[in-house]
Amino acid sequence: MAKSAARPILPYYLIAALCLAAALIAGWTPLAGRIDNYHYDWTLRLYPPPEPALESAILEIDDLTLLRYGGARNLRRTLALALDRLAPAKPRAVAIDLILAEESDADQDHALSAAMSRTPNLILSSDLIANAGQWEEPYTLFRPFAKAVGHVHADPDRYDGISREVQLEKAAHRLRRWALALEAFRLARGAPDIIESASDLRIGGLVIPVPRRGNRGRPMFIRYRGHPIPRVSVRQLIEDPATARRLSGKVVFVGVTSQSQARDRLMTPVSTITPMPGVEIHAHIYETIAQREFLWPAGNVSIVLACLMLAMVTATVFAFLTGWQAYGVGAIQILWAHALPHLLFQSGIIFPLLAPAASAWLSVICCAAWQYSLTRKQLSKSEADRSRYQQAIHFVSHEMRSPLTAIQGSSELMSRYNLSDEKRKQIAQMINSESKRLARMIQAFLDVERLGEGQMELKREPFSARDVVIVCLERARPLAVKKRIRLEAGELSADELLGDRELMEYAVYNLLTNAVKYSPPETQVLVTMRRLGERLHLAVRDQGIGMDEKELTRIGTKFYRTTAAEKSGEVGTGIGLSIVNQIVERHGGRIEVASAPGSGSCFTIIVPLHAAKPAAEVKG
Ligand code: ADP
Repeated sequence: MAKSAARPILPYYLIAALCLAAALIAGWTPLAGRIDNYHYDWTLRLYPPPEPALESAILEIDDLTLLRYGGARNLRRTLALALDRLAPAKPRAVAIDLILAEESDADQDHALSAAMSRTPNLILSSDLIANAGQWEEPYTLFRPFAKAVGHVHADPDRYDGISREVQLEKAAHRLRRWALALEAFRLARGAPDIIESASDLRIGGLVIPVPRRGNRGRPMFIRYRGHPIPRVSVRQLIEDPATARRLSGKVVFVGVTSQSQARDRLMTPVSTITPMPGVEIHAHIYETIAQREFLWPAGNVSIVLACLMLAMVTATVFAFLTGWQAYGVGAIQILWAHALPHLLFQSGIIFPLLAPAASAWLSVICCAAWQYSLTRKQLSKSEADRSRYQQAIHFVSHEMRSPLTAIQGSSELMSRYNLSDEKRKQIAQMINSESKRLARMIQAFLDVERLGEGQMELKREPFSARDVVIVCLERARPLAVKKRIRLEAGELSADELLGDRELMEYAVYNLLTNAVKYSPPETQVLVTMRRLGERLHLAVRDQGIGMDEKELTRIGTKFYRTTAAEKSGEVGTGIGLSIVNQIVERHGGRIEVASAPGSGSCFTIIVPLHAAKPAAEVKG
């Protein structure tokens, strides 16, 4: 039966499946979250949105404004002044990013409320009171003049504190608020309401794809712009009212940018060293909505599918291609895994990097390593085969030389000299026996090669082990008689085996002839056969030369003969036992040997029984 030469494919898919599992687990760890975040930030900076005419602007209360106009204590009066200066510019909406919750100096409060009353489309801010889960409401004097109150709750990333998303909707204490920038957009568009569904928000004709995600509200990725949003400082506006023109028709976000006073600064993907003031973040949120530059995260199913594809394609590549071809396609797989988030980002989809990259890298490395180890194994096997073959050729030529020399010499003797009939007969007999020995040697050599290659077909039929032993005993008896050795059978069970009777006969006969060969005259060779559990134990015990522990580990190796066997004068090839070993193994069994120098050996064949046939003990 010829061995299949097909490459094993399944291991590659199993390896890829394990790599996929590892990549998916790794992809959902906090460390992966951080790596994906950094990669997202980099991608965001790499592909900035186009720079159209922006709708928003910032009216900032910077350090100089505070210095010139009485600092934080006089903030409300300064703000009132700024609103009055802004009015002629007719902004589309004015969003004040300041929490004006408590009462302060009465004069200032009245001045500010008066200025607010003259500001159309005014949006005031509200934030959650820390640890109270409650909204901080604008002061009652200001509240009536606000067309809307928007929340300014920041939602920085829980791993690195960077602001990437805003919760457009935030609920606390049974009161739901829309984000400040969203309210500013609604008023700027003159829309009466924000129409909501589970998957989006609608304002006028604009659909914002922000599905509600449980207690995370409706998170929206902020498309931070590469260029800064136009700014005018309150000081500039007060000192030069003409600067109001720069704010005309814009949605103006008013807030503190002063390094010392702005407490709502956050790091963003586009921040370098200094965090971005909250008022600027609101303007970026506004532009994301107004310019429709929405980004949405890829779903978990699509991430798993992409990773699965990468791993399985890699497995297929390494299962069917080898060498540089496989490595080349593997490298393309890795490149592809890294390029995927970039390609998808162009279409507004945020795809993680770590899970697909890990899937590609792991599966390529592991499949390549597996293929390499297989190739190494094949190489060393073929090297071992070659050296075995050389050894065999060496052995055959060496072993064949002695019978050939004998045949050659004898035939020369016969042809050159006048020999008596008796001598002639003697020489002819010798030629005959030596040529038979040559034939046996060649047959044994071929058998062992064919068995080793798996080319010798093993029959699968039930046969009686007892019959095999009896036949072999009869065949070996003349040899034993010649050496005055008692060849005896002990207990022989009547169990059946399943397999090749002829090959089993070869094995048993070989053990018997070895026992006779390597035993001195007047000794005994005993064969017993016992059933132990589901196995048959067939033992051949002799009282011969035996062997030591070191030799025990080596017998059965092709061409190995013990020193005692060499010295015994018995002719041998050293390959019989290796054939016996293979025959027994092919029958699902094994051979056990117990021996000591000078005190005999016991070779036991242990093979599984043919299940169908029950046992019956018979005395041989
Ligand atoms: P061969 O007998 O032709 O040399 P085998 O492969 O049958 O080849 O046996 C290998 C070697 O194992 C023998 O040369 C001998 O050294 C050792 N051996 C096998 N059977 C016995 C035995 N019954 N007693 C002692 N040595 C044995």
